[in-house]
Amino acid sequence: MAEMEEKLEDLKTRLAEINDLDMISSLLHWDQSTYMPAGGAAARGRQTATLAKISQEKFIDPAIGKLLDDLQQYGESLPYDSDDACLLRLVRREYENAIKVPPEFLSEFYTHSAASYQTWAEARPNNDFRSVQPYLEKTLELSRKFGDFFPGYEHIADPLIDLSDYGMQAASVRGLFAELRAQLVPIVKAIRSHPIADDSFLHVHYPEAQQLKFAGEVVRQLGYDFNRGRIDKTHHPFMTKFSLGDVRITTRVKEDYLGETIFSNVHEAGHAMYEQGIDMALEGTLLANGISSGVHESQSRTWENLVGRSRGFWEYFYPKLQAEFPAQLKGITVDQFYRGINKVEPSLIRTDADEVTYNLHVMLRFDFELQMLEGTLSVRDLPEAWHERFEKDFGITPKEEKNGAMQDVHWFSGFIGGAFQGYTLGNILSAQFYSAALAAHPEIPDEMKQGQFNTLHDWLIQNLYRHGRKFTAVEMVQRVTGGPMSIAPYIQYLKTKYGDLYHL
Ligand code: ZN
Repeated sequence: MAEMEEKLEDLKTRLAEINDLDMISSLLHWDQSTYMPAGGAAARGRQTATLAKISQEKFIDPAIGKLLDDLQQYGESLPYDSDDACLLRLVRREYENAIKVPPEFLSEFYTHSAASYQTWAEARPNNDFRSVQPYLEKTLELSRKFGDFFPGYEHIADPLIDLSDYGMQAASVRGLFAELRAQLVPIVKAIRSHPIADDSFLHVHYPEAQQLKFAGEVVRQLGYDFNRGRIDKTHHPFMTKFSLGDVRITTRVKEDYLGETIFSNVHEAGHAMYEQGIDMALEGTLLANGISSGVHESQSRTWENLVGRSRGFWEYFYPKLQAEFPAQLKGITVDQFYRGINKVEPSLIRTDADEVTYNLHVMLRFDFELQMLEGTLSVRDLPEAWHERFEKDFGITPKEEKNGAMQDVHWFSGFIGGAFQGYTLGNILSAQFYSAALAAHPEIPDEMKQGQFNTLHDWLIQNLYRHGRKFTAVEMVQRVTGGPMSIAPYIQYLKTKYGDLYHL
């Protein structure tokens, strides 16, 4: 037994070093996205590539494989949900995946991605799809090549989906999305037959400093811990972490739109509260992370939408907001405000979309990823396909490519495949977890009206956050809700909320 414990210690020490390298990379990335002068870009790209290479080499070291083999039986003898058993299962899975991908492929892919991103950033403002086309074609080729390192898949997208949403496949996501789509389209149609809600009061001048102050106060009250976090400005808000004691969020301000800073802060704080809620005993291990992109997004969406766009939340916060901006919100009632922040309107840009139409944006991208990987849609034809599908789903067509196939960074800085499904899985799961919380604590909505969020926050910590990555998404949904993943609570949520708002 002592021998096994020694081997486990050896494995943990090696993994802790790899984790340190990855956290240092995150810090460099955070700096690059917040304070670094533009002149630092080339060297910074090289530095993060070096760190990624060392980290990868350390992880695929055969010594790690040997330790995992030696520890296999020991791990299986431990209780299934013990920290060590969970760690050994996860490391085994990640190791088996990592050794299938040759380091030369990864370095080719990183080099290509950097060039692709650079070209996209320059071509996008000019709607110049033809400049990015060869890069995207190469990305597609490399994405297929990646899939082929994992023979035995059913769909070539499966290994890519597995990277961010382990346990899901093209077929299972397709099934869920088809079910959701069948329910969503009639809701969108019904809402569109009503007049669009007025939100013009959100689009007057709101000074930056006041917006930042208010949005910071909101997330503090929700439970984001500033002793283990901070907020800085960036172009595209994100959450990042350097340890469980340092989980940061970033934000941006539009002085002519009040919703931007508040809702993106609450969204990123949702991601951060998930990470801050992980058990400190897991610090420095692979377990000290969120489960999957879908489960992570479920928490940002819970706080942003289910909480932050609810009537009860604004019953508490609206008088404070109005006191901060008395001239801008003069004469606007809490009801008008609530309708304004929940306006449903087909729009071109995914990240600006409302709760109801958002998933149609995701489904379009998911379908196109599968078709490109299957070879039934060529990169050349992507803009045209985008226009047609948009007209069909939203009744509008982008006039410029920057608002069409060039709008998202994902395909220009990563693989084609697996990049988008997590957003909608997150919406589905947010409602499923939240309804379990409400079943345990029906007082949650009333507490929100008083500005109390700790019953919900504590329940999420106890049932979800503290476990980090100990369980798979499938296991976690079963543990928390007592059943498999289901769209029913999400549809119920949308129908109740928007049925009420639009008298459907
Ligand atoms: Zn997010």
